[in-house]
Parts: sequence; C-alpha cells; structure tokens
Amino acid sequence: AKNAGKGRIAVFDRSMHADVVERMELENQLRRAVELESFELNYQPIVNLRDASIMGIEVLMRWKNEQGVYISPSDFIPMAEEIGLIGKVGEWAIEHAMNAFNDVVSRLPAGSHQDLYMGVNASRRQLSDPFFVERLNQIIDRTGFERQRLKLEVNESYDPRHREQAVQTMLSLHRTGVGIQIDDFGKGQSSLTCFQSYPIEAVKIDRSFTAAIATDHSHAVITQAIVQLAHQLGSRIVAEGVESKEQLAALRRWGCDAVQGYYFSQPLSVDRLYELLADPMQS
Ligand code: C2E
Ligand code: CA
Ligand code: CA
Ligand code: CA
Repeated sequence: AKNAGKGRIAVFDRSMHADVVERMELENQLRRAVELESFELNYQPIVNLRDASIMGIEVLMRWKNEQGVYISPSDFIPMAEEIGLIGKVGEWAIEHAMNAFNDVVSRLPAGSHQDLYMGVNASRRQLSDPFFVERLNQIIDRTGFERQRLKLEVNESYDPRHREQAVQTMLSLHRTGVGIQIDDFGKGQSSLTCFQSYPIEAVKIDRSFTAAIATDHSHAVITQAIVQLAHQLGSRIVAEGVESKEQLAALRRWGCDAVQGYYFSQPLSVDRLYELLADPMQS
C-alpha cells in the first residue's frame, strides 16, 4: 500500500509537471501572438425583437495557436490577465474592431444602420487600469469611430479591491457617450448593486440562464422579473445564447428587447457580417 501510495504521488507529480510545462508553453505562445498580432475577430449579430432588425454586434476574439488549435477566449483572456497582457490584447481587439466596423458601414448604403452599435467585452483588469479611458480615447481618435456606437460589456466579477477604479472608469465612459452593458447577468453570484453604482444601458442575460428558461419554471419566473426590473430602472434587456424558437417565443412574450445566439447567427467573419447587413431585408 505504501508503495502504491508513493507511486501515485510520483505519477501525480509527473502529470502536474506536464501541466505546468504545457501552460508555460501556451503563455509563451500567447506572448508571441500579442507581438505578431495573430488574433482574429468575429462579430455576432444582436437582433431587435421589435422589428427583427440587427441593432448591434458583439466583437468576439479568436486565437489560433502555433499548432493550429483554436483556444477559447474563456481560456486565453484570463491567461492574458494573469501575465499582464490583457491591456494589449484587449486594445488590439478594440482598435481592429473599430476599423473593421468603419469599413463595413462605409460599404453599406449611405444612411443605413445609423443606430447599429458595437459591443466590446472589457475584462475587470482592463476597467481597473486608471489609464484605460485615456488609451480608449486615443484609439477612438485614431480610428474615427463614432463614440456613441460603442457599448462596453462588463461583468460584475471584478476584484473588490479594484472596484472603485472600475466604477470611475464606467462613469467616465458614460459621461462621454459610451454605453455600459452588464454582461453574464444571472451567472454566478450576480448582484443588484451594479444598478446603484453607474448607469446601465442594457443588461445581458447569461446564456446558462437562457438555456433553462423554456424548461425550468424558476428560471422562467426569475427572467420575467429581471426584464421588469431592468425596464423599471431604464435599462434594455438582451438575452444571450438563444438557440431555440421556444426560448425566443418566451423571451418575446416577457418583453425582452433583443436576443443574441445561434438561433439567429453564430459569430461571423467580417465578410459574412457585411453580407448580412447589406441584405435589403436588414436595412
Ligand atoms: P461572452 O461575452 O459572454 O460572449 C458570448 C459567448 O457566447 C461567446 O463565446 C459566443 O460565441 C457564445 N455564444 C453566442 N451565442 C451562443 C449560443 O447560442 N449558444 C452557445 N452555447 N454559445 C453562444 P466565446 O466567443 O467563446 O467567448 C467567450 C468569452 O470570452 C466571452 O463571453 C467574453 O467574456 C470573452 N471574450 C471574448 N472576446 C473578448 C475580448 O475581445 N475581450 C475580452 N476582455 N473578453 C473577450
Ligand atoms: Ca459579452
Ligand atoms: Ca455574456
Ligand atoms: Ca463574459
């Protein structure tokens, strides 16, 4: 038994070592990817439930590593935060998305999609950087992006130590016309205190929550309450991860404003986004 115990420990050590090596290798690849700017961006439409028009798009980052494997942003964004590269990665995404968006809009019929907005995710580390606003303003100046089209998607999970700075960032962005949207609402321990700290233009219901609304009574009841709460506080409500017509029908019945998810569209390349927006049914 003692030997088996030792053996297990030895095996455990080896596999732990392998994990550490693998992770360091991935971190190094991520550092190189930042230098080489080897990321891609996808754009997922957000559909207005009132008239089925595309009211916005969300920018989603993609990274294909040196082995040609796609690494999920849910994995490499936290990694970029840990190794201090989130500022660079996030700002690369914002600047490229703004240029791509400008390009798409300039090719569309003049005057169409005037209210189309672009949602960009900002992680907690980005928001707690006291120079974030300044650098964002520089990017907006460089790209000539129309500021009122920008929506920042933030979630409430930032470290309490950085909360004060993050709130200052959001207030300052709001003052200059950038909309603040709460991401992943209903996931983990979301709290309602966000409604008291800064103006929230829209609340995005997390996709794990959307997944249960058509089949689970308590999720249905809570979603209806969230829609009412958001509306009474002057926020719009967007459901993420809508995959079925049952979910769509329920959300429409409950007065949800907009939806995003595979039911309408996957995240698209910039060319596919252009084709979709250029479709006369959409203008
Ligand atoms: P998120 O902000 O909650 O983005 C929505 C995620 O749901 C995306 O995953 C999207 O591809 C996925 N999704 C959309 N519709 C459906 C659906 O109908 N069903 C299912 N199952 N999934 C759907 P993705 O692209 O893997 O991104 C994961 C997370 O990574 C994002 O979650 C966001 O928090 C983060 N992220 C992505 N791009 C960026 C970025 O440029 N900056 C920062 N800071 N974070 C980013
Ligand atoms: Ca988001
Ligand atoms: Ca989300
Ligand atoms: Ca998120």
